[in-house]
Amino acid sequence: MTSPTSLATVYGYPRQGAARQLKKAVEAYWKGRVDADALLGTARDLRLQTLAELRDAGIDEIPGNHFSFYDHVLDTSVLLGAIPERHVAAVPDVTTPAGELDRYFAMARGTADAPPLEMTKWFDTNYHYLVPELGPDTTFTLNAAKPLAEFAEALAQGVTTRPVLVGPVTFLLLAKDPTGTDGFRPLDLLDRIVPLYADLLRQLHEAGAEWVQLDEPALVTDQPADVLAEVADTYATLAAATARPKILVASYFDRLGDVLPVLASSPVEGLALDFTGSAAANLDDLAAAGGILDKRLVAGVVNGRNIWAADLAAALGTLATLLGLAGSVDVAASCSLLHVPLDVTLETDLDPEIAGWLSFARQKLEEIVTLRRGLTEDRSAIGDVLRVNAERLASRAASPIVRVPAVRERAAAVTDADLRRVSPYGRRHLAQEERLRLPELPTTTIGSFPQTSELRQARAALRSGKLDRDAYREAMRAEVRAVVAEQEKLGLDVLVHGEPERNDMVQYFGEQLTGFLATQQGWVQSYGTRYVRPPLIVGDVSRPEPMTVDWATYAQSLTERPVKGMLTGPVTMLAWSFVRDDQPEGDTARQVALALRDEVADLENAGIAVIQVDEPALRETLPLRTADRAAYLEWAVDSFRLATAGVRDDTQIHTHMCYAEFGDVLQAIVDMDADVISLEAARSNMAIVADLARAGYPNEAGPGVWDIHSPRVPSVEEIAGHLRTAVAAFPADRLWVNPDCGLKTRGYAEVRATLANLVEATGQLRARA
Ligand code: GLN
Ligand code: ZN
Repeated sequence: MTSPTSLATVYGYPRQGAARQLKKAVEAYWKGRVDADALLGTARDLRLQTLAELRDAGIDEIPGNHFSFYDHVLDTSVLLGAIPERHVAAVPDVTTPAGELDRYFAMARGTADAPPLEMTKWFDTNYHYLVPELGPDTTFTLNAAKPLAEFAEALAQGVTTRPVLVGPVTFLLLAKDPTGTDGFRPLDLLDRIVPLYADLLRQLHEAGAEWVQLDEPALVTDQPADVLAEVADTYATLAAATARPKILVASYFDRLGDVLPVLASSPVEGLALDFTGSAAANLDDLAAAGGILDKRLVAGVVNGRNIWAADLAAALGTLATLLGLAGSVDVAASCSLLHVPLDVTLETDLDPEIAGWLSFARQKLEEIVTLRRGLTEDRSAIGDVLRVNAERLASRAASPIVRVPAVRERAAAVTDADLRRVSPYGRRHLAQEERLRLPELPTTTIGSFPQTSELRQARAALRSGKLDRDAYREAMRAEVRAVVAEQEKLGLDVLVHGEPERNDMVQYFGEQLTGFLATQQGWVQSYGTRYVRPPLIVGDVSRPEPMTVDWATYAQSLTERPVKGMLTGPVTMLAWSFVRDDQPEGDTARQVALALRDEVADLENAGIAVIQVDEPALRETLPLRTADRAAYLEWAVDSFRLATAGVRDDTQIHTHMCYAEFGDVLQAIVDMDADVISLEAARSNMAIVADLARAGYPNEAGPGVWDIHSPRVPSVEEIAGHLRTAVAAFPADRLWVNPDCGLKTRGYAEVRATLANLVEATGQLRARA
C-alpha cells in the first residue's frame, strides 16, 4: 500500500546554529558588543541557513516561526501582548528594533527593578520556558509581526512554511496568575485570546500560508472534562472562520488519551500525534476512535527527544498501520528537534561503531525522509538504507559495551534486603547521635561552594594540557582547604568539601562511570542562551574506581568536624542524561544505584560518617500521565534505597531536593528513608515544614532558610524568623539548618555574610528557653 501524498516534516530544529552563532550573538548584544541590527542580521542568516538545510535534506513541508531569540513561550506572550506592567515600565519605547529586543530580554532576564518572568520546565524535558503572567485583568493585543515576517522571509526563498504556534489552550494552561486571584484560572481567558488567534490565522492566510500548526502538548497531561469541552469549543471556533489556513493540532511527549476523540471529531484538518515511548498508545486509541479518515495525520514515529537511531523497519510497520486510520499520513519526529544535539558527525572522538547507533537532529531528518520514501516509493528504493540501519541496530544489541554480563548478574541478584537499612530510623538516630555528637539544630550546607573563575580556568587549563593532572589536583585541594577553613571559621557543624572539582553534578560522575559517554558538540538548549551537553548512557553502568573518596577523605583530614560525602543520585543521573531506550529506565537506574552503592561503601569505610545523595530531579521526572506515576516512583525510590541502604546504622544518609511543592511525591520522600532531607523552603515561607509534619514525615529535615536563587543576604532576624516558623511546626530535635541549595552560583561575599547570619540565627534559637 502506498500513500502518494505523504510528506516529510518536522516541528522545529536546534536553534543556536552549528557554530553556536545565535548564543554568541545574543550574549554579545547583552554586553553591548553588537547592536540590534547586527543581532537581527545574525538571526536572519541563521534562519535562512536552517531553511536551506531542511530543504536540502528533503523535508517536504518546512515549519515556520520555530526560531526564537530565547523561548517560544515567551514569544507567544509577546505575540498576544501579555506583557507585565513592570516590563513595559522598564522598557517603555518599543518603536525601534532595539526597544523591542530590550523589552523581550527584560521579560526573560529581568532588569534592575523588574524581575523576569518565572522560568520552569517544559513538560518532562530539560528545556525551560518563561511562564506567562496572566490575571483576570490582562488585556491582549495581537502583535503578529514575528510569524508574518518569518513566513514572508521563507516565501521569498520559494518556501511556503507551516507556521508553528503555541496553541491557545496550552498557552493558558502554562500561564500563572502571580497574585493568585481567588477563583481565577488563566484558562478563563480563552474567550479573549481565541479571537486573536483567529485574526492571526486570517493574516497568515492572506500572506499565503496553507497550513498552520497549533501545538497543544498540555493536552497530554490529565485534564478534567470541562477543559476537554473548552478544547472542543476552541477548535470549533477557530475552524469556523472561512479565510484561514488549514489547522494542524500537534501534541507530543505522551498520548492524548481522552482528548484524542475530542480532537478527532473537531473540524480541524489535521492532527500530529506522538507514536514513540509511552505515547505509542496513541495508535490503539486512534484505532478505537475509528481513525481520522477525514483528516491529515502527521505521525511522530522518529523519537524527537532521544538520541538513538530509529528502528526504521518498525517505524515503517507503524506507518503502514496508520495508513488505514487517516486520510493521509505524513512522517515526522515526535516533537521539535530542539531537544537533541545537531549532528553526530561532529563527534570526532566517537567510536564509529557507537556513532552508528546514534541519531541527532541531522540524522533524524535523514530517517524521516527515508521513512517518507518508504511510504511513497517502492520499498526497494530504500533497501540499502534499511539494511545499514538493521546492521547498526544489531551491532548495538550485540555489543559488549551495551550488555555486560557481570553488571546484569549483579543487578538481577538484588534482593529486598538490599533496599533496607539494617535498623529503622529511630535506632539509627540514636547511633548517629552517639557518633556525631551534633548540637540541636545542626547547621550544614548543600554541597557546593562558589565556583570561582579560578576554578573554571584550572579546568580549562587541564583540558588544554596547560595544567597536568597533579597540578590540577593540587589546585582543587587548595580550594578544599580554603572551603574547610571557611566553614570552621563560620562555625558550621557538618562540613562539605565544596565540590570544586565538579564541572556539573551529572557530567562529573558520567565521566567516571563505565556505560556513560560524553560528547564534544552535543549541545542542547536548557534555557535562553544556556546550553548543556548531557552525557549519553549507552551501555551497562559500572564504577571502575572510587569517584569522590579522595576529595572527601582529604577534606575530613583537615577537620575534627564531620565532613559530608557528596554524590548525585540515580534518578537525577538518568534525568539529566540521554538514557538508553532498549531496557526499562528502572533497570538502568538500578545499575547506576549499584555503582553508587559501592561508592557509598567506600566512603563509609574511609571514615566518612555523613553521606548525601542528591536527587533534585526526582519530582521533575514524574511522568506526565498520573496513571504512570506509581510505577515510576517505585523504581525511583528503590534505586535511591539501593544506593544508600548498605551503610551501618551510625552512618547518616542525607538527600537533597530543590523544590517546595511536594504534593505528588511526599510519600516517595518518606519511602526513600534518608536520615535527613534538605529542601527548598525559604521562598514559600517554610510552608513545607508544616506539610512534612502533616504527612507524618518521620525522619530529619533541613528546610532551606536561605533562598540562594536570589542575590541578597538575608538578615539574622529573617533567618531566625524562618527557624521559629519551622520549630513551631516540626519537632526541633529532627530539624537541621541549611540553605535551599548549593552555593556554586553565588559569590563569596554573600556566602560568608549569609552563612554567618545563619549560624547566629541558629544560636539564638538554641538559646531559647
Ligand atoms: N550538592 C549539589 C550542590 O550543592 C546539589 C545541587 C542541586 O541540588 N541541584 O551543588
Ligand atoms: Zn538544590
